[in-house]
Amino acid sequence: MNQLKAFLFLLISSLVFLQAHETALPKVTLQLVWKHQFQFAGYYVAKEKGFYRKAGLDVEIHEYKNGVDVVKSVLEGKSTFGIDYSSVVLQDPRKVVLIGALLQSSPHVLVSLKSSGIQRIEDFKNKKIMINKEAWTSAPFAAMLRSKGVSFDEMNIIKPTYDIHDLINKKVDLMNAYLSNEIYTLDKEGIAYNIWNPKEYGFDLYSDILFTSKKELQEQPRRVAAFVKASYRGWRYAFEHIDETVDIILQKYNSLHKSRDALMYEAKMLKKLAGYGTEKFTTLDVSKLQRIRDIYNVLGYVPKQENHTSLEDMIYRRPSNYEFSLQERAYLRTKKVITMCIDPDWMPFESLQNGKHVGMSADYFHLFETFIGPQTHIKLVPTTNWNESLKFARERKCDILSLLMKTPERSKYLNFTKPYLKIPIVMATRMDAPFTADFHSLGCKKIALVKGYSYIEILKKQYPQLVIVEVNNIEEGLDKVAEGEVYGYVDALETIVYAMQKHHTGELKIAGKFDGTRDFRIGVRDDDPLLLGILNKAVASIDVQEKTQIANRWVTVKYEKGIDYVLVEKIVAVFGVILLIIGYFYLRLRRLKAKVEKLSLCDPLTNLYNRRHFRKVGQKAFSLFTRNAQTFSVAMLDIDNFKKINDTYGHKFGDTFLQNIADILQKHSRESDVVSRFGGEEFIMLLRNTDSNGTRVHADKIRAEVEKLYVDNAHVTLSVGVSEVKKSDTSIEDVVKRADEALYLAKANGKNQVVLAD
Ligand code: GH3
Ligand code: MG
Ligand code: MG
Repeated sequence: MNQLKAFLFLLISSLVFLQAHETALPKVTLQLVWKHQFQFAGYYVAKEKGFYRKAGLDVEIHEYKNGVDVVKSVLEGKSTFGIDYSSVVLQDPRKVVLIGALLQSSPHVLVSLKSSGIQRIEDFKNKKIMINKEAWTSAPFAAMLRSKGVSFDEMNIIKPTYDIHDLINKKVDLMNAYLSNEIYTLDKEGIAYNIWNPKEYGFDLYSDILFTSKKELQEQPRRVAAFVKASYRGWRYAFEHIDETVDIILQKYNSLHKSRDALMYEAKMLKKLAGYGTEKFTTLDVSKLQRIRDIYNVLGYVPKQENHTSLEDMIYRRPSNYEFSLQERAYLRTKKVITMCIDPDWMPFESLQNGKHVGMSADYFHLFETFIGPQTHIKLVPTTNWNESLKFARERKCDILSLLMKTPERSKYLNFTKPYLKIPIVMATRMDAPFTADFHSLGCKKIALVKGYSYIEILKKQYPQLVIVEVNNIEEGLDKVAEGEVYGYVDALETIVYAMQKHHTGELKIAGKFDGTRDFRIGVRDDDPLLLGILNKAVASIDVQEKTQIANRWVTVKYEKGIDYVLVEKIVAVFGVILLIIGYFYLRLRRLKAKVEKLSLCDPLTNLYNRRHFRKVGQKAFSLFTRNAQTFSVAMLDIDNFKKINDTYGHKFGDTFLQNIADILQKHSRESDVVSRFGGEEFIMLLRNTDSNGTRVHADKIRAEVEKLYVDNAHVTLSVGVSEVKKSDTSIEDVVKRADEALYLAKANGKNQVVLAD
């Protein structure tokens, strides 16, 4: 019954609206350790480009203000996350979690002018240095000096103005500076200088470490994971799009009033220091952290908690159930770019909008990319339609296809990952079409599908009688349905509802669903098994909550007010029965399928079944009768005086007339009735589980409907012979023969009537 509920849900959801939806997101704050500049660009990008929002977060970024203690702010819960220098390693590992280091080497150096005469650290003695207390007490500088037997105590310390011109104008001999900032001015003004970098003396430190509290990690592990993913996505974007990122800073984050040039300089320097493009990017290494702690220790700094073994516990483990093998890691390092094609027009699943990949699969790929890591990029190769995407995949112009079904045809050139998206496949029809519970009952109707879609292969196999019309896109397909050119359009539920809502509200409806859902996967070029393995791990890394989040973001079903729930219950009951029938016929027809496939079942003029198919269905019904005593009847229908119509108005008119009659027969028959053209202007119907009386009533209804047609002020009429299967019958032919005899009697009795065989 679960299936039934899902089924009903789909039916109801097809009646109502889908809406992109936004609920209030949880607020988190990030405390910066300095003023706005490129130093925090990745976080701005994650916010301004919506990466945080997509990760389900509303992030506030707090600029540094005098007197702010970043660690304290995070530990007291005033901020959710913080950025700090490497001294954060001294914090209590039971309270602080280090997430990642943006800068693999610190940009913090001492600088002197070439003209100052300082050539070695030993020359620092008795020189004037402009440096703030934090810097001269900071481990790397102190350690660098100590390693050469120099101490800040032997220098003349000048209170900082933070103005590099004090160095240029020789007010001081040395000052502390950032490779990414002050050095820019020296370069620009063409002044020769020397850099004293602790790194070169063996004191290589991290900087700009992202951290949070243990409490936050314990209480909100998913929030932390989401923030980390989105932040580093922001950083990757920032380093890849430096111009655009600098624009963002100039517009919204330029409290330091830096020039574009200065920001560009900073960006390039930080990109280098971050080790962007290497596997070290954003990572923290325990032994390096340990070394940093040792340096502090040697210089007499006391860690907040004297327990060295717990340092490892201080490092945040990004949640991942699947680690890459050495081979896979090496592959990713050298591969660098994975090219991907998508369906450019398949919302809400995916599409290409202004050159960008958007939709559900885009959200998934954002997660996959984060999982795969920063060395490797998944690069979109734009196409104009899905068919071209398939072509590109065959021609290896793209390594992967983002979201598709596995089919034998595609398996000739692609491997497939495990599925990551399940999509129900439905059919849209005009409002007046009946609900289709079993697609076999559609007989030989025309069904539109987008060219290249996998359901074409599947539909052809499962329902060989359907006439498939290939269209270029969903709009074309739905237009054809609306104009009556085709009976239905088949596609994923979400897609159809999404498109219908835009263009065809009140005109089209969902009138049928294929059994089960379809599994969608990543298609991977079949000559690259390592990539398949990597992507399979990426797919496996996505959990249910992330899936739900993505689904909710794109498709939210809103119930229309005033749904009649009694009616809904009735619908449930009726569909319950239909579902049982579907299951039953599905099994039966599956067995029939192999034989049926080779033969055409359709009458091309009327789109009814042909005589041959009728015979097949009749034989099956007959054997069910002999085995299970399941009755059925046959009605043979013949148009009265059709020769005259044909002779008077021409053969073409006659043809159209036959089509009109066929439509009436189809429209007034039930799901389980098989309506066929027997030949010429004769039709034959098989009515399952119906006795001759029931069939007579039904046939008379059709006769009355046909009688409503006029040609030249004269009624068109129909004669019908009806027979029910009998114990003495030896085959379906006997039943047909008796219906034919009854039809003969109807003609002889004056036509326009139904006669029962005895
Ligand atoms: P009755 O009431 O006795 O059935 O008279 P009738 O004229 O319908 O009978 P008859 O079977 O003698 O004639 C059938 C005619 O149907 C012969 C042919 O001209 C016409 N016919 C058969 N097949 C087609 C077809 O595919 N298209 C058209 N336009 N006419 C057809
Ligand atoms: Mg006739
Ligand atoms: Mg005839």
